[in-house]
Amino acid sequence: MVNIGMIGHVDHGKTTLVNALSGEWTDRHSEEVKRGISIRLGYADATFRKCPVCSEPTCYTVAEVCKLCGTKTEEVRTVSFVDSPGHEALMATMLSGAAIMDGAVLLIAASEPCPQPQTEEHLMALNIVGIDRIVIAQNKIDLVSREEAIEHHKQIREFVKGTIAENSPIVPISAQQAANIDVLINCIEEIIPTPERPEKEIARMHIARSFDINRPGTPIRDLKGGVVGGSLLKGQLRTGDRLEIRPGRMVTVGGKSTWEPLETEITSIVVGGTQVSKVAPGGLLGIGTTLDPSMTKEDALVGQCAGKPGTLPPTWEKLSVDFQLFKRAVGVKKEEEKVPAIKVGENIMLSAGTSITIGEVKKVTKKTLDLILSRPVCAETGSRVAIGRKIRGRWHLIGAGTIK
Ligand code: GDP
Ligand code: ZN
Ligand code: MG
Repeated sequence: MVNIGMIGHVDHGKTTLVNALSGEWTDRHSEEVKRGISIRLGYADATFRKCPVCSEPTCYTVAEVCKLCGTKTEEVRTVSFVDSPGHEALMATMLSGAAIMDGAVLLIAASEPCPQPQTEEHLMALNIVGIDRIVIAQNKIDLVSREEAIEHHKQIREFVKGTIAENSPIVPISAQQAANIDVLINCIEEIIPTPERPEKEIARMHIARSFDINRPGTPIRDLKGGVVGGSLLKGQLRTGDRLEIRPGRMVTVGGKSTWEPLETEITSIVVGGTQVSKVAPGGLLGIGTTLDPSMTKEDALVGQCAGKPGTLPPTWEKLSVDFQLFKRAVGVKKEEEKVPAIKVGENIMLSAGTSITIGEVKKVTKKTLDLILSRPVCAETGSRVAIGRKIRGRWHLIGAGTIK
């Protein structure tokens, strides 16, 4: 499976497009809620299909019968969309989503000038994380004239010049009217292939949600173990496997706190609402464990890594990062654009993998930052990190780096 991020400024039509591509989204979502496993993270599977008679691009559809010629369509592949949550539009949420994306659809509404602040931020985040398989969808073309759409298309081309999306196709669509969706699917098929993920690689999962699925007042003997949700980046997991979760939980003994990995057993695996015994990468999965549900409740384990015991990367409580500041903060008005140097004692935001943490700067040179983290992160040496600073009460991207 391939994970495709649906990103863009709030209200530009991300959720509408995911709905247009995956008719079942709403049903599946409420089904999961009924089972107690919410997927509010915003995942939806869509199956692209192709009419065997019609030619490209009009052959592409999500319908089972071709609208043009009435022939039964054939499955091409199922993809998994990661929809950034709506109005919060937290850069942090988007960044942790980006960690599990193989490519992205960047949605830009034609009814507003381009770029909007978040559009710029999102594109910069893709740059940092290194996601270069990007299809740009110019949405809401039903709201503008042909001339305005062409003018807006030029604005987009200008905006992406010199970025990771420089050569991305721009597809005019109306998500609401399901117009030009065939061309969009055709572009996604060409630009965002399903990555090769050798099955024998060591399993690595990023935890994006965690839950206690028991109703209040459930008798102890009926309690179900903690559930973690997220995405498998590589390898395979099976029911019955032992699972280690890092950094794990904070243990305080005699006034001194340390972080201890959790070890548990996989009791169940749910993918797209279906129980399975084995899972491969891509899409969202929910894993039932034997953990005390109080450890997994209310997203307590978000941002942690899971895998076979002894195979996970180090847990960092202090971190050295080789970094570079951007020329200007992303997503702020022009007059605030310069980025002052990072200072000792300053608190900055750091995102590594799906994990977001705050670090206090202990030492800084032109190239290197030494930080003490408020919450440790589990990440490989050499991982890319995004660096944010609070400007007027909101975190903005100001730079990027790699863990030393
Ligand atoms: P999101 O915040 O990016 O997820 O945006 P939504 O999908 O929630 O859409 C925001 C609003 O734009 C909703 O009222 C949609 O009905 C509307 N919308 C989305 N796509 C289109 C479109 O192609 N044309 C028009 N006219 N409205 C759209
Ligand atoms: Zn056809
Ligand atoms: Mg939305």
